[in-house]
Amino acid sequence: MKIAIVGTGYVGLVSAACFAELGHEVIGVDIDAAKVQMLESGKSPMYEPGLEELLKSGLKTGRLTFTTKLEEALPHVKIVFSAVATPPGEGYKADLRAVFIVAETVAKFANHDVLFVNKSTVPVGTGEECEKRIAKVLKDRGVQFHIPVVSNPEFLREGMAVPDTMMPDRVIVGVNDTNGSRELMEELYRPITRVGKPLVFMSRESAEIVKYASNAFLATKISFINMLTGLAEATGANIRDIAKGMGLDNRIGPKFLHAGIGYGGSCFPKDVKALLATAQEYGIPMPIVEATDTVNQLQRKRFIEKVLQSLPKKSHVGVWGLSFKPKTDDMREAPSIDVLKALFDAGHSVTAYDPVATEKAKPHLPASTQYAESPLEAAKEADVLLILTEWDIFRGADMHELKSVMKGKDIFDGRNIYESKDVTDAGLKYHGIGVPSSL
Ligand code: NAD
Repeated sequence: MKIAIVGTGYVGLVSAACFAELGHEVIGVDIDAAKVQMLESGKSPMYEPGLEELLKSGLKTGRLTFTTKLEEALPHVKIVFSAVATPPGEGYKADLRAVFIVAETVAKFANHDVLFVNKSTVPVGTGEECEKRIAKVLKDRGVQFHIPVVSNPEFLREGMAVPDTMMPDRVIVGVNDTNGSRELMEELYRPITRVGKPLVFMSRESAEIVKYASNAFLATKISFINMLTGLAEATGANIRDIAKGMGLDNRIGPKFLHAGIGYGGSCFPKDVKALLATAQEYGIPMPIVEATDTVNQLQRKRFIEKVLQSLPKKSHVGVWGLSFKPKTDDMREAPSIDVLKALFDAGHSVTAYDPVATEKAKPHLPASTQYAESPLEAAKEADVLLILTEWDIFRGADMHELKSVMKGKDIFDGRNIYESKDVTDAGLKYHGIGVPSSL
């Protein structure tokens, strides 16, 4: 099937490359001409494992092409996906301007019936609003094309985006139209349903809510375990044991019970806040979701305070990890942004290392941040070392080697990747989150 995907970011590009790999003909559309040029040359603008290979393969087969002009793609396609960004706007409500521009552009240039599919994360009611805007443009043009709006929220995880798209747990499709939309979506996703993955149909409103509900629930699990870390520290308990004891219960499960510095990234913080904004609009109280957000902010603050309290004036701090999580270079709402700002504000200096995110991190971090080429270089002469992202390369660090290059002894492990004993045995001091610190 011929489709267009508007917005070639983390979601749109992965979807485009995967649909092309699965046999569809995909035109990726983006307003960013430099990005389109880069994509046409086979280079991925962001780091995502396996993506560049798929991009190259799609270009080679000719099933994947790119353009900056949606109107040029439109005559050829049956479906237009919108995968543009929906960042936090006023009062943390999702900023839907880009989504509406795409919807109106489709209506403005369509010369046949076409399905408009919203893949961006949008509040409930956005599909209806898109449909209204499309109807108005079509009316003004004096044409009568059938352009229904379907919700198809995306659940991929950055760092795992390609496998998540090729083999998703489920695909959610919200359809209110009874005139062929469902059948078109079934045809599009056939390569995925053929391998047994569920395609779940529901109303458009339900689908729009599923996305926010899922992210808020996962964020709540993280905040719940983080909430307990203070109690664990105050009582000498170990949050790892608590999480293990809880997670072995099948009703609870072990995932998202990993205590740390709190969640960041382009989705959880903004989606939790956007759900709260929607709830407020409808006058529906959501105290659990509110608490999720509060705990997350406190957790980051608590870590920063602990580090700052331990530092003598004008300390030199080594930082391992800048991206909001491993296997991505995404810096949106990364804890490192707040942590480094607080360190510089307090008069300290920082040398940081990240395996892939350094270039993307630079615009977000204080100008005087120094960047290292290796973990050991970042730790050299450091009074303390902070672990801010749990990249695999940090997990196997040789603590004796680390001790030999550092000036001080303190390791603040914001991701709980080390065992206290391994760090202590090398003569260093361990400060995890919700775990007993070494003396
Ligand atoms: P992104 O910022 O990486 O990409 C958005 C792209 O859209 C950019 O390349 C931008 O140039 C382009 N764009 C903006 N306006 C445009 C327009 N009018 N026409 C054409 N292109 C335009 O964003 P993302 O992370 O891919 O997120 C996209 C949506 O998917 C958001 O709603 C997000 O909440 C949701 N989502 C993201 C993830 C994730 O992990 N990143 C996961 C699930 C859902």
